[in-house]
Amino acid sequence: MLHQKFLTSAVATLCALGFAAASTAAPITTEGTGVGKHGDITVAVTFDNGKIQNIKVVKSAENPVLAQEVFTTQLQHVIDTNSVDIDTISGATFSSQGFLAAVKQAADKAGVKLDKAAQKAVKKVAKTLPKESTYDVVVIGAGGAGFSAAITAKNKGANVVLLEKMPAVGGNSLISGAEMNAAQNWVQPKLGITNDSPELHAKDTYKGGDEKGDMKVINVLTHNALDAAKWCRDYLGVRFEDDNLFFFGGHSVKRALIPVGHTGTEFIAKFQAKAQELNIPVITNMKAEELIKDKTGRVTGVKATMDGEAYTFNAKGGVVLATGGFGANKAMVKKYNPKIDERFMTTDAPGTTGEALYMAERAGAELVNMGYIQTYPICDPISGVIELIADSRFDGAIMLNQEGKRFVEELGRRDVLSEAILAQTGGYCWVLWNDEIGKISNTVKEHPTEYDAFTKQGIMTTCPNLKCIADFTKMPEDQLKATVKRVTDMKGPGNDKDFHHRAGLMDMSQGTYYVIKAVPSTHHTMGGIKINEKAEVVTADGKQIPGLWAAGECTGVTHGTNRLGGNAYTDIIVFGRIAGAAAADAAK
Ligand code: ADP
Repeated sequence: MLHQKFLTSAVATLCALGFAAASTAAPITTEGTGVGKHGDITVAVTFDNGKIQNIKVVKSAENPVLAQEVFTTQLQHVIDTNSVDIDTISGATFSSQGFLAAVKQAADKAGVKLDKAAQKAVKKVAKTLPKESTYDVVVIGAGGAGFSAAITAKNKGANVVLLEKMPAVGGNSLISGAEMNAAQNWVQPKLGITNDSPELHAKDTYKGGDEKGDMKVINVLTHNALDAAKWCRDYLGVRFEDDNLFFFGGHSVKRALIPVGHTGTEFIAKFQAKAQELNIPVITNMKAEELIKDKTGRVTGVKATMDGEAYTFNAKGGVVLATGGFGANKAMVKKYNPKIDERFMTTDAPGTTGEALYMAERAGAELVNMGYIQTYPICDPISGVIELIADSRFDGAIMLNQEGKRFVEELGRRDVLSEAILAQTGGYCWVLWNDEIGKISNTVKEHPTEYDAFTKQGIMTTCPNLKCIADFTKMPEDQLKATVKRVTDMKGPGNDKDFHHRAGLMDMSQGTYYVIKAVPSTHHTMGGIKINEKAEVVTADGKQIPGLWAAGECTGVTHGTNRLGGNAYTDIIVFGRIAGAAAADAAK
């Protein structure tokens, strides 16, 4: 049986020991540093007679789940080939590149010439994996929805397998901020919030999606939200901040629980641990390609591939689709929403490419609301990830074009800002703030790894004056100074005659200045597979497809035109559990 190896203390166990060949010269250890996705990766490499013997990761702020393959498989591959001339790990490209650059720098320092091996990456051969196997429930996609379904099905006595096409689990659920809405949660009374209800949450969700969501499904979401959150807390062991909630736009009250660390890593780590404890096989690098139906039209399994080899997973009860959205598939995004064209990068996990939606469609499912795609305006022009450091915008940072002029109200809707940015020279903008703005919430201090990484990437800088900002950004200095003077002159609520900044502009006349380059990215795909309130997949004429359930971002009826912040996690846990339970029952 295959188990996804749970990553505990990855960095501590990264030491891959080599055997020193008999040598005359003493082994030498040097350190090297490369830039990963979240700042510096520093490694200590031991060389003996020009060959790498050992690599230890000394410092890394990479996401431990995503970078797991880099710091285990790839690390060993570098040792085995004595080369950094190897493939990067799919889904962890930036971590991979940073790690390889760090090893290269250590080699340069040691005066060691590494081999130009350019060998193919070591293929993971699942030797023990039969070409055909039978389970009660097959779950496709190891994000939050898939884990919730698999764990719930297992607890109902089903024999379950979880298939994931990427080398690492987690999908968008891992890299999300992972706030989770639940009305009447245990934190609300501490903040004096006593007027929330599942009904109000449902109303907000429906309204926030321009009344295009399915109210029956929304009601299931909001009425099961608290139970789902308690399941995460009490059964999975997810830690939430117990004195703070997130207040996303479109909600009547603060109701989003915040996981410790403010990311999905807290959830996915707990999901992995629980799946391992329950002996649920999680097979990575396994891509579902086609659903299998019997003569009666019931879905009875899935055909999948790993490294080009075909595998069949039969499902006695049924299949749960939990394959996420299609934000990382530029062509598909453009097909359904031509306004979001190739100029957009994505904040999303690389596995969110949506081909499983077509797989469901071929099996008879209706795809709905596909054109409703949310963009996020302020993202890294190199990787596409959200620039949390530029959340200074919510406190008064201004957005400038290359000509040094403001062009939009900085607190406008995400789609409005995205379009406005793309209409500027080069399709990007600069976000500028000073430490007067940083006094409210000091995003530079809150996000030190981003600060390091963006500064090193050359898209961000810190300056004592505006001349230095103009030199860095190559904006015309006179115009920049004029814009900043005008902003300062119009400071305070209600004074912005140019763009009507709803909170009021700030005094930007002096202090330390920060500037970062930003572009919009595709963020969440609201459309997808049509389900009913039981998470059953339905056809265009509303008939259930027997043996097929779906949950999470791959479904398309919950959020309408626009997903409210904090609803994605509620959605994946609530409907993942419903789908997993139903598929397990169907196997009985
Ligand atoms: P959700 O938030 O709905 O759980 P995620 O994006 O977190 O969605 O997770 C979806 C997961 O499904 C991702 O890890 C993605 O790589 C995986 N996936 C997508 N398509 C397939 C497929 N055809 N076969 C196996 N896994 C898939």
